[in-house]
Amino acid sequence: MKVLKFGGTSVGSIESLKNVKSIVESINGPAVVIVSALGGLTDRLIATAKTAAANDLTYLEEVEAMTERHLNIIDNVIDECNRRDVKDTVLSLLSNLKRMYDGVYLIRHLPQMTLDIIVSYGERMSSVIVAAMIKGGSRHDSLKFVKTEKWYDKNIADQKLTTHLIKEEFSKPFDKAIVPGFISTDCKTGDITNLGRGGSDFTAALVAAALDAEILEIWTDVDGFLSADPRIVSDAILVPHMTFIESMELCSFGAKVIYPPTIYPVFHKNIPIRILNTFNPSAKGTLITDSSCEGDLNVKGISAIRDTTLFHLGGNISGKLKNTVSRTFNALAKKGVKVFNVTRNDEKSGMSFAVAKADADVTYDLLCREFAPELSKGSLSLPERIDNVATIAVVGENMKYNSRLGARIRHTLSRDGINVEGHSEGASDTTMAYVVDSSKVDDALRHIHTLVF
Ligand code: ASP
Ligand code: MG
Repeated sequence: MKVLKFGGTSVGSIESLKNVKSIVESINGPAVVIVSALGGLTDRLIATAKTAAANDLTYLEEVEAMTERHLNIIDNVIDECNRRDVKDTVLSLLSNLKRMYDGVYLIRHLPQMTLDIIVSYGERMSSVIVAAMIKGGSRHDSLKFVKTEKWYDKNIADQKLTTHLIKEEFSKPFDKAIVPGFISTDCKTGDITNLGRGGSDFTAALVAAALDAEILEIWTDVDGFLSADPRIVSDAILVPHMTFIESMELCSFGAKVIYPPTIYPVFHKNIPIRILNTFNPSAKGTLITDSSCEGDLNVKGISAIRDTTLFHLGGNISGKLKNTVSRTFNALAKKGVKVFNVTRNDEKSGMSFAVAKADADVTYDLLCREFAPELSKGSLSLPERIDNVATIAVVGENMKYNSRLGARIRHTLSRDGINVEGHSEGASDTTMAYVVDSSKVDDALRHIHTLVF
């Protein structure tokens, strides 16, 4: 059995919904179809909540616009005989949504719990429409079977319970099961929660893993994974195949094709993922599986995190480098700061690493606190930080067989006048990273791309 996920743009217009219908109806046998909210709607649901909380009555116009958009779609994609019912269901959801906004407007306050309820309406409505549009379609409510638990102040999926409930939900025969993505409920309180922005992919992965699907198809608005962002690198090419690890690395380095946590549940079960384009359904897309295959490219992609800060700890730490590194990483990990790469400078010159710019201030404070004794004795100098740098990742499992590639990349960059502030080669089997000035990142991406593809 297949699990398919259609993102916001795929369910966002009459034309794209017609493509969804023909894609799903052409499948023989049962399939589970996860849908996002209509494209752009989640952002608007949030913005409108903020408008209402600011005691601004224009939230009413926004609700009006959302209503019109949904009704227009229903008029154009739902058979006449079902149209009245679908409209009634969607209108009743919209009227509840409006009451939520009225409440927020009156109390001028937007608690997280209320916002979570508000954003859930997007997927609740889109799934009603898609279920009624597709022949053999039935709606299965993920609020009943996708469960989250509290983890500090975040909601994270309770995977064990969710897997059990999904198996139960889909134990009876079905043809095309339509499931709202993204939304969930708390395992203890039953309050409405969600899996985080972009989380419909994750819903799809949880369902695919629980039901041992033969494949997870992610239908989106691009042909698949490209070797780089085509807005920057105009000759980026489609990558026909990559491994789970490679796709995870690319996504955590800024490629926006899939939501990074998606990979884990399917990776675990070794269920392949295919990225496909709703607007170009006959294109082969990108297949993601557990291992490399014949004819794979050496490098699968180049991506960049634009806003990073490079840190350097210097001073008399020779002989203590290992200890310094582990104290640094521990201190940062405890506060949830993700370290992007380690530039292995030689022991005398200290250690360097990059973090997201948003984490830079916290990182600086943590370093000062962790190394307070050394700093006060003067055996370590104050952390140096270089803001406004970007970290570029070059990803490909087969790069390990090409030991000269790193040197060639650095040579290319320096030849073209791009200073590499830090790099990491060989620390990971899959990824090499280069830290360059933010203003040079696009040039650097193009130069590296020309070199490796
Ligand atoms: N609608 C949600 C969002 O925009 C979830 C998703 O699309 O995956 O973040
Ligand atoms: Mg969306």
